[in-house]
Amino acid sequence: MSETRPEFPRPTAAALIVAGGRGLRAGAGIPKQYRDLAGLPVIARAIAAFDAHPSIGALVVVRHADDAPLFAQARRATRLPLIETIGGATRDASVRAGLAALPEGIETVLIHDAARPLVSAAVIDGVLAALETHDGAAPALPVTDALWRGAGTVTGTQARDGLWRAQTPQGFRLGAIRAAHAAHQGGAADDVEVARAHGLTVAITPGDEANLKLTTAADFDRARRLMEADMDVRTGNGFDVHRFGPGDHVMLCGLKLPHERGLQGHSDADVGLHTLTDAIYGALCEGDIGTHFPPSDPQWKGAESHIFLTHAVEMAQAQGFALTHADLTLICERPKIGPHAAAMRARLAELLRVEVGRVSVKATTTERLGFPGREEGIAALATVTLVKS
Ligand code: MG
Repeated sequence: MSETRPEFPRPTAAALIVAGGRGLRAGAGIPKQYRDLAGLPVIARAIAAFDAHPSIGALVVVRHADDAPLFAQARRATRLPLIETIGGATRDASVRAGLAALPEGIETVLIHDAARPLVSAAVIDGVLAALETHDGAAPALPVTDALWRGAGTVTGTQARDGLWRAQTPQGFRLGAIRAAHAAHQGGAADDVEVARAHGLTVAITPGDEANLKLTTAADFDRARRLMEADMDVRTGNGFDVHRFGPGDHVMLCGLKLPHERGLQGHSDADVGLHTLTDAIYGALCEGDIGTHFPPSDPQWKGAESHIFLTHAVEMAQAQGFALTHADLTLICERPKIGPHAAAMRARLAELLRVEVGRVSVKATTTERLGFPGREEGIAALATVTLVKS
């Protein structure tokens, strides 16, 4: 779906991320570019790599017509304008759709596989630098293993000199690659093949072993191991209490539960959401709910607490953190949490923008001891894990 073409200042290079594939070999039942990689969808990592690069001025994502909900769930806020467009039946057709969707003012385009989430700034720099002197440029790694021919047994060997393992992004001057694609019959393995068929010269720039294309489950494992080397892992905790008062329901984890009393507070007093919100602020070292939403400010009177949690989630995302786990314990005699725990997890997963398997909701009583035991109020504890890689 093409959005309105946004205006943008220089730089004049765009990233065109091709995400139309159906690749299901990595498992999990959804195309691999939408699968989770250490707390963020693969495609979100690929987009973020270009969004963070100072020489990129626009982003285009070409997705499959059926993937609107998957992409909506996977995409994250970006610094740059992002144009979402629908691909064709083949990779060539998808790239052509992406080239057609580029905004005005673009002079060079870097065409990248959504399934290569670990592309580095250095790889992008190499392509951009070579485009100053060539029509096209793309990263590759020299083949270092011996090469054989055969099936079951070795029937021959192949010299590896001058052989390269191609990667993306493959960069081109925009007019040249548009003309090359317009003239191409289709069926090319990649855009370098399309470019060369049209007579363009393509420079080989430094590739990176970490810039692997995720295809199988083993590739995902390898990518996770590569990322672990420089991960910033944060743990935050939260604690909150709200007292009971008059009312006929309580808000807990975003759900309205009938009860003979309500919880009191400046906002809707959702002690579960407040606790998780504070845990995220804690992991970020960004104060607490009161810092961002002062109780003295009348605009938050009666506010729905998902506003607070969404603020914390977006702050974490803006700082490059992915929330990988949240564990919430509600402490009360009543209402009974067990019957609502599954719905709470589903609602929290939605608010936290993660899959439900990363969200835990537990409940305990205090054996009728203390204020929760006397049913004077509800307390909650939360621990969250944030990861930046
Ligand atoms: Mg509170």
